[in-house]
Amino acid sequence: MPLFKPEHRQLLKVLHPAREEEVSEVLSGLAAFMEEKISPLSPRFDSLAEKITSARKSLLENGICLIPYPSRYGGLELPFSAYTTAIELAGAADASVALSVAIHNTVADGIFLFGSEAQKKTYLPGIISGKKLASFSLTEPASGSDAKAVRTTARRVGREYVLNGTKMFITNAGEADLYFVLSATEKGPTSFIVEKSAPGLEFGEDLPKLGMRGSRTSEVRLTDCRTSAENLVGREGEGFEQVKTMLNSSRIVMGALCVGVAQVAYEKAVTYSKERRAFGGRISDFQLTREKIADMVTGISAARLLCLYASRLKEMGLEFSSEASQAKVFATETSVRVCDQAIQIFGGLGYTSEDVHRHWRDARLLTIGEGTSEVLRMLIASRELAKSL
Ligand SMILES: Cc1cc2nc3c(=O)[nH]c(=O)nc-3n(C[C@H](O)[C@H](O)[C@H](O)COP(=O)(O)OP(=O)(O)OC[C@H]3O[C@@H](n4cnc5c(N)ncnc54)[C@H](O)[C@@H]3O)c2cc1C
Repeated sequence: MPLFKPEHRQLLKVLHPAREEEVSEVLSGLAAFMEEKISPLSPRFDSLAEKITSARKSLLENGICLIPYPSRYGGLELPFSAYTTAIELAGAADASVALSVAIHNTVADGIFLFGSEAQKKTYLPGIISGKKLASFSLTEPASGSDAKAVRTTARRVGREYVLNGTKMFITNAGEADLYFVLSATEKGPTSFIVEKSAPGLEFGEDLPKLGMRGSRTSEVRLTDCRTSAENLVGREGEGFEQVKTMLNSSRIVMGALCVGVAQVAYEKAVTYSKERRAFGGRISDFQLTREKIADMVTGISAARLLCLYASRLKEMGLEFSSEASQAKVFATETSVRVCDQAIQIFGGLGYTSEDVHRHWRDARLLTIGEGTSEVLRMLIASRELAKSL
């Protein structure tokens, strides 16, 4: 089944009629690469038989993160919705690779939005072209959803800052060349870029996980870790607002990643339902199977649309935080449900075959990571209640 489908092309045509050709060319090129080099390895990434390192590097070198950035940093200057779609396709090819790339790009987004021109020139071209891998280090043992309660400290000493603390559950930790670290200064949460070579930076063991097994997740430990004062992003005390903005965009993308995961589970279930026979017919002939198929595809289409709608608001410079959270809650929960229905359609094979249940295991992370469904519902409700009706 091709990753880049007529419905993707159609939606992008609706959103960007004048740029459909160039967007489609980039996305079909990326899709062809992923179909050949990533999808076939996905079961091996899940079973830990192979590392994602080289597939991820090739995908980055093929330009997935160049899509939304200006050409002065080497980017393609294409709409954000094209990047959202690219991550959906990557999610269908392999969820762990897509997660690692999407979090890497969250750092690029942060440097692009809040970094100094010198930081952008130094770091952005390398990150978006895949020469350098990045890691977004926010969560701590005592502060997950409540990110403002950051306990890692940063103290200015001469021309450097000295950071102390522990970050937890960090994707790409140990593999990344750069760490975007939220730390507390006297003026409040503050963002820093820390290079892997910084003295006092260490990493924990790769954590075993339910899903997303190909992506590395571990602690980042900062012990009198020194980074140049030039690596302070923005000003002291601006870090919390910066990461909130970064998370808004990245929530759209995580939603899209889950749409890709749901799409591949759905396609496997549809194919199987046409092959498997029971009571003298194919299980796809039964109305109860058809109901599942109708609900699965409708959920996928609606989730995709929410992600693209939030992307379009972002492109247009409009407020999109509630829509981004709606897209993430709906897309991630839909994906878990679709993958669960796929298991049901496969019957006993669904429960025993890694290649069926791995999609549910992968999707399950994203009702937790980058803002839990509970916290995002709180955010959506407070935005909506603040509106005058
Ligand atoms: C595989 C993996 C990869 C990750 N990658 C990264 C990464 O790259 N960078 C990074 O910084 N972090 C990363 N994380 C961390 C992730 O973002 C956090 O786990 C997530 O934000 C939730 O934080 P927590 O685990 O501390 O849960 P908690 O905040 O302790 O929440 C526990 C439960 O309480 C609920 N809860 C909390 N507050 C409220 C409230 N006010 N009302 C109602 N319910 C509430 C939550 O919804 C949740 O159900 C990753 C996590 C995992 C598992």
